[in-house]
Amino acid sequence: MPALSHYHTFHLPAQCQALESFHDIKTALLLSQACDRFYLLGEGSNTIFIEDFNGTVLRNRITGIAASETGQSIQLRVGAGENWHQFVTYALEHGYHGMENLALIPGSVGASPIQNIGAYGVEVAHFIESVEYIELRTGASKTLPAQACRFGYRDSIFKHELAGKVLITHVNFSIPKAYTPVTSYGELAALTQPTPQHIYDEVIRVRQQKLPDPHVLGNAGSFFKNPVVSQATFDAIAARYSQVPGYPNDENGVKIPAAWLIDQLGFKGQQLGGVRCHPTQPLVLTNTGMATGQQVISLAKNIINAVSQEFGVVLEPEVRLVGREGLISL
Ligand SMILES: Cc1cc2nc3c(=O)[nH]c(=O)nc-3n(C[C@H](O)[C@H](O)[C@H](O)COP(=O)(O)OP(=O)(O)OC[C@H]3O[C@@H](n4cnc5c(N)ncnc54)[C@H](O)[C@@H]3O)c2cc1C
Repeated sequence: MPALSHYHTFHLPAQCQALESFHDIKTALLLSQACDRFYLLGEGSNTIFIEDFNGTVLRNRITGIAASETGQSIQLRVGAGENWHQFVTYALEHGYHGMENLALIPGSVGASPIQNIGAYGVEVAHFIESVEYIELRTGASKTLPAQACRFGYRDSIFKHELAGKVLITHVNFSIPKAYTPVTSYGELAALTQPTPQHIYDEVIRVRQQKLPDPHVLGNAGSFFKNPVVSQATFDAIAARYSQVPGYPNDENGVKIPAAWLIDQLGFKGQQLGGVRCHPTQPLVLTNTGMATGQQVISLAKNIINAVSQEFGVVLEPEVRLVGREGLISL
């Protein structure tokens, strides 16, 4: 049975029945239609294999970047198996500016629209023109314009109606030629007259300082999404915790940093077996080396229950947890 620990950034020692890679659509269809149960994998940075998976893991390696130009923007058609950070670097080096805030996010280009990756005040949806995918059951290929992708905070149609049914093969980006730096977030605000290169360098510096490197300490980035609550819920929390941070959310309501909620309850640095709530960023759970899937589930549930009891807010995982038969929920 192939080992999966090197194929997901949390590095739990799960196994699967078979592990296959594909570089083109035809092979992807043949492989997916030949097995009863499969899990599509990019780079495994948003996936934790909690236990052995009774199926085939299919790794997407469709690559290639094609650039063209219109009057106002640069169009980039990118293979879903390209590495996200390398793509951001490629864009910067070619003078296609704007995506620097998203530097160093692990993972593949094909997974980027799925949870609408975002960092430092920028979401990938801002640059996506359309997403190309194939329906795995029928083999039909479709191109979904960005407006139909229902992008939201760490959300899209690919997490709902299309979840598990399609393979994203290419993402079409449109990068405006007019460059507007986004420096409203955290450390970037200190930059004066920043160039795209400055933002890229600063984002990398800050991320390396704050977040554990998955090559050194297994983790899957933010374990939970930041909850979006009603104004009434936010006011009720603020009445007891006057310093609670809250940010207006596009989809109405107020977004509260999950890290703050978790921190109030003393989980920072707490360890359950081999799983630890990261001491400098409590939103990240790490594998200290000997973690088990059950310990991940237990610590995550402890955090969810404690936050729910104290604040009346239910945290949702941002990571995908994969069990014997596929995705599992907490
Ligand atoms: C240290 C660290 C920091 C992170 N920081 C951020 C951050 O700042 N912002 C942020 O938004 N995220 C962040 N993440 C999460 C992660 O980087 C993103 O979710 C990324 O897009 C996942 O890409 P992946 O290829 O590794 O996805 P995977 O984990 O391989 O897959 C994720 C999901 O997408 C599906 N999938 C993957 N590829 C395809 C495809 N081609 N077609 C259809 N379905 C597919 C999989 O089945 C799975 O359900 C971080 C993760 C880590 C480990």
